[in-house]
Order: sequence, then C-alpha cells, then structure tokens
Amino acid sequence: MTDPSLAFVAINDLAAITRGRALPLKDLNPVSGVGWVPANLAINAFGDLIKPNPFGALGDLRLIPDMNTEATFPLPGGSAQIFLATQSLPDGTPWECCPRAALATATARLERDHGLQVVAAFEHEFALVDGAGEPEGAGAFTIAGLADGEPFGSAARQALTDAGIDWENWLPEFGLGQFEVTLKPLPAMRAADAAVLTRDIVRSVARMHGRRATFAPLLHPDAVGNGVHVHLSLWQGETPVSYDPQGPQGMSTVASAACAGILAHAPALIMWTAPSHVSALRLLPHRWSAAGAFVGLQNREALVRLPALPFGSDPARSFNLEYRAADATANPYLVLAVLIHSMCDGFDRGLSLDSVLTGSIDDSTFPPLPKTLAEAIQAFLDDEIARAWFAPDLVETAITIRRGEAETISALDAAARCRAYASVY
Ligand code: GLU
Ligand code: MG
Repeated sequence: MTDPSLAFVAINDLAAITRGRALPLKDLNPVSGVGWVPANLAINAFGDLIKPNPFGALGDLRLIPDMNTEATFPLPGGSAQIFLATQSLPDGTPWECCPRAALATATARLERDHGLQVVAAFEHEFALVDGAGEPEGAGAFTIAGLADGEPFGSAARQALTDAGIDWENWLPEFGLGQFEVTLKPLPAMRAADAAVLTRDIVRSVARMHGRRATFAPLLHPDAVGNGVHVHLSLWQGETPVSYDPQGPQGMSTVASAACAGILAHAPALIMWTAPSHVSALRLLPHRWSAAGAFVGLQNREALVRLPALPFGSDPARSFNLEYRAADATANPYLVLAVLIHSMCDGFDRGLSLDSVLTGSIDDSTFPPLPKTLAEAIQAFLDDEIARAWFAPDLVETAITIRRGEAETISALDAAARCRAYASVY
C-alpha cells in the first residue's frame, strides 16, 4: 500500500520529464520547500547528465511547492500528493533557469506591458503500446477503440478527475492504439501545470494496468503523430479580447498582432515546442500537424489554426488560436513562455497578420519550419529578439542536453530513433 501521507514535490525539466523528491506530507514546508541540485537541469531524455554544463557540482536550490497545485497522484496500491514547484535560490528568489519561473516571467511581461492574460487549453495525443513498443488496439473514433483502452481508460479518467484536472474529451484517435485527452481552458500557469500532471497520471495509470502509454511524437517515421495542440486566447481581466466580428476571420487587432508575433518567430519557437531529434519528422505536409509557418482557417496543417466557432456559443469567449507544432518532448511551461513572448513582440512592434490561408496547402506557398532540431536550434540562436527571452544558462543547457541525445542516437536509423524516444515519453 503506497503511503497516502507521502508528498512528492516535482518540477518538469528541460527534457519535459517530471522529477522531484518525496517526503512525509506532514513535513512539507510550503515556504522553504525541499532541496534540489542545479546540475539536475542537465539531465537529458535518456537519463544522462551532460557534462560540461554551466552548473557542475556547485550550488543549491530549493523546490518551493505551489500549494495550489496539490493533486492526488495515482501510484501502485495507493497514491501520493504531488505538488508542482518553482526552483528557487536558497533565499527564495525564483531561479532564472527554472521553466516554471520562465513562464511566470512571460506572463508578467504580458500583464505589465500590455495588460493582458493568456488562457490556454492543451490537447494531448498518446498511444497504448505493447512491450515491443508496437501500438495496441485499433478503431479510429469507434466505441471498439474506446473499449480497447479499457479498463485503463476509465481508471485514467477517474485519476485525472481525482487530481482536479478538468478534462473535456477522451477520444480513440485516428492512429493505431492512439488516444487523445483534451483539457478545458485555464490561465496559462494552471494550464501548463495541468499538462504536466495529465501526462504523468496517464502514464502511471497505464503502468498500473500492465500497459504502457507513450506521448512520443512518432512511434515510427511513417506513423500518425502524437501532437500537443495548444489553444490560446487573450483576455483583459474578465473580458475576452481575441474576437472582433469585423476583423479578418474574426480576429481582433490583438489576435492579429499575436499571430504575427508567432509567425515572426516561428523558426525560433520550434526548439522549445518540438525539441526532440524526431520531432521535426512530424512537422511535415499532410501529417495534420504543422506543415509550415502560416495561419490557416480551420486548417489542420497550419502552425496556427483558427478553429470554427461552435454554433450556439458566445463567439467572443470561444474564439481561440490553436498552435499545432508542439509535442510532449517539450516542457509545457516553456511552450507557453515562447508563445507568450512571441505574442508580446507582435504587440510591442504593432505587427499585424498579412494573410490567413483559407484553402488547402496544395494551392499555396509559405515559409517552411526547420527540418531538423539542429536547424531549429540555429534558428533560435539567429533570432536576436528570441534569444533574450531566457537566461543564457537555460538556453545553453537546453541545447547541451539535446546534443547529448544526438550522440546517443547517432548510430540509429529513423525508426530506431523514434523507438528510443517512445521508450522515454
Ligand atoms: N495527430 C496529429 C498531430 O500529430 C493531429 C491530428 C488532429 O488534428 O487531431 O498533430
Ligand atoms: Mg487529435
């Protein structure tokens, strides 16, 4: 029986892996938290601590739990209380390399400079796989596909609810053994917190049912991808400000500037939103992911899709922008941080969107996205504005860990690379 009075204080790292420390719940100090090590930031997806890194053996941090994130986390035979934390210096100042702190910096910039807030909703695709990593179950959108996921599916949905996560849809998706869970919109920080917990809860419940759930972007180079799509809307307090019935495709001036900012930095975003060495394989035409750097009306190949407004809904409240070039190898706090910074740049420079693609990609041209992670990293380094979004040590470590992954997989072909990442995510 897992001790229900156990606390697990956790962060999501640069490789989008949740790590932390357990302690008796009664001993959790919300002010001083628990100890942590700066060099942990240099652990990559395959568990290697990459050296050299900016931290070495020096320094101490504290994981300061955000007590509002407390959630019941399912474990074999019981549960623990999980708390998501901000990594802080010993004096309590947020650490400049903490992804959660980096999102707080981005939301503070949006608030301070523009009086705006972002509401976000994450959609996650994942697949159930067998011991060999092959997808199990079929039946896109069918009740048989739903049944193939049981009883894991019911237990996972209950665990999400027990953790206070407001999930919206659970669907047997198009790919073999593929499912999708969509979450309801939340303020940016809460949305990223919920995204972190959702992945870990789904994986944990799958293990408890003798199954394995993987959120890896691709199980095979030709397989249907597992995307993370992020729906974004901009608010001024209680007032939604993304929609204007007179604006192009319903976009307000604010939404148009936000999209223009995202497009202006599109190549630089990718190393933060699709950061594994197999992520770029998913971002190709006709994969219903993101075929290039354009905004598309109801187009599932767009970097930013403008979804249709549901009949009977309040258009001002339901209008949103869907960013489609993310996957679960990306830290959700950093995904939102780069999107918010790029939107802020759109506002700062008074940008507006030139055009929205209203037809199919086959009849149009648009800038491509980086074709490899190396290209994506270079695009970020070449983008002077984007480089200022994060602390230099955070950027250096993010690049270093993925270089380490490149070495680990260098001898593997594309299929084996996909399998390597699928065994982790
Ligand atoms: N599986 C697609 C992706 O890789 C998304 C399909 C959809 O639009 O739900 O992003
Ligand atoms: Mg989907």
